[in-house]
Amino acid sequence: MREALHAIDNELFRLPYSATGEEVSNFKKLAEKDLFQCPYCNAKLIVKYGDERGLYFSHQHSEACAESKNIDKAEKRYFKQTERETKIHKVMINIVHDELTVQAKNNPQITVDYGYKAKSYLKEYPDICVKIADKQFALSIITDVKSTADSKLANQITKRHLYFLEQGMEPIWFIEKKEQSIEKDKNSIVLWDAELSIAAKTNVDKEWDSTLAAIVKDKMFFKYFNYPASMDNLAIDVRSMFYIYSNEDRIVVKVQRFLKDRIVKPYRAFLLNEGYEIPFAEALVIKNNFVLSNPDIDEQNRKEFIKRYQLFRHEYQERLRIQEEERQIALQEAQEQEEKLKKELEEEQKRKQQLPQDILKQRNTLNIPKKMSYEELKSLLRSNIKLNQREQMELWSIMPALRHDFQFIWELVVKNECKSFDELRPILHMALGKR
Ligand SMILES: [Zn+2]
Repeated sequence: MREALHAIDNELFRLPYSATGEEVSNFKKLAEKDLFQCPYCNAKLIVKYGDERGLYFSHQHSEACAESKNIDKAEKRYFKQTERETKIHKVMINIVHDELTVQAKNNPQITVDYGYKAKSYLKEYPDICVKIADKQFALSIITDVKSTADSKLANQITKRHLYFLEQGMEPIWFIEKKEQSIEKDKNSIVLWDAELSIAAKTNVDKEWDSTLAAIVKDKMFFKYFNYPASMDNLAIDVRSMFYIYSNEDRIVVKVQRFLKDRIVKPYRAFLLNEGYEIPFAEALVIKNNFVLSNPDIDEQNRKEFIKRYQLFRHEYQERLRIQEEERQIALQEAQEQEEKLKKELEEEQKRKQQLPQDILKQRNTLNIPKKMSYEELKSLLRSNIKLNQREQMELWSIMPALRHDFQFIWELVVKNECKSFDELRPILHMALGKR
């Protein structure tokens, strides 16, 4: 019954439901038998009932003990701290609390309580405090993380994380978020500002460290995965994030591991795999520490990662080989093209050098006839058809009709084998008739 008591006021405890008149009188009877004690000072509590407050427990004479007053104050501060959280926050916290309480019952090494109750003196509270032997853990769930660039909330969470560490607790964060900002083609995850500070370093992460140590030495490692590493010789530091959300009516934890990289915005990290879901209860199993993983799945993931690395390396080298081949082919083609051009150029030059001689030759063979003069025709006719003075006058008189084409007249003589002007005359007149 004591577990059902919730401190909400600095002088009373209230049951988390409103009671009927019959229940009120039953509780009052039980109270008279000293059944209800203050969990902090062990003083006897009495039962009261008010219209506004419902059924509640109170120290006698309304004198609350110092511890219960502290817890009430702490609870108010915790409510203020968690004001920004969504409704699901309280539901999840209660489920975590119940889950861990069951384990604590079977293991005296474990104690579990709400943060503000376990350590009411803190300035800020984890949602739940867990003590495993002499180790203390601060469990918190952050809801309503909408953007990776919410730096105000990120600062608050980062400060709280450091504060818990100062207080000797190991912080464990659950982010209520289903979708992560994953860049698949780059094999990267873009982290919310706070995630870089609050990411956990578990034993499984250390196992990943040693798996990666052997292969990240390969200078081309990140190139195989198309990942834009921010620096050479990246220190191998695998971290894990735990995302919490409901999936088909059950609450699951998604374990997401990454290799820490950029420490300036945007906070990009090398993604080791797509993460895996485990039932909430399984994540919260305590074996000296919180399990927060499925070791078999992680073992499998590491093997698959190495296979993927080998495959990507092969593909990358194959790509390089093909590129080199293509480069060689292109080079050869370019050389051939160049030689062809060179040859063409040489031929062109040779042609240019030959040209003047050719033209000369051509001109000689063409044998273009000079235009015949009257004097030339006259001398040709005199020597060939014995042209006399009178015939010469007759020829001259028809010359305008023959357009003074002396060459034409000579050709007629040659063609018709004229021996005298008498033979030439009818031929000339025929030619005149045609002209
Ligand atoms: Zn008390």
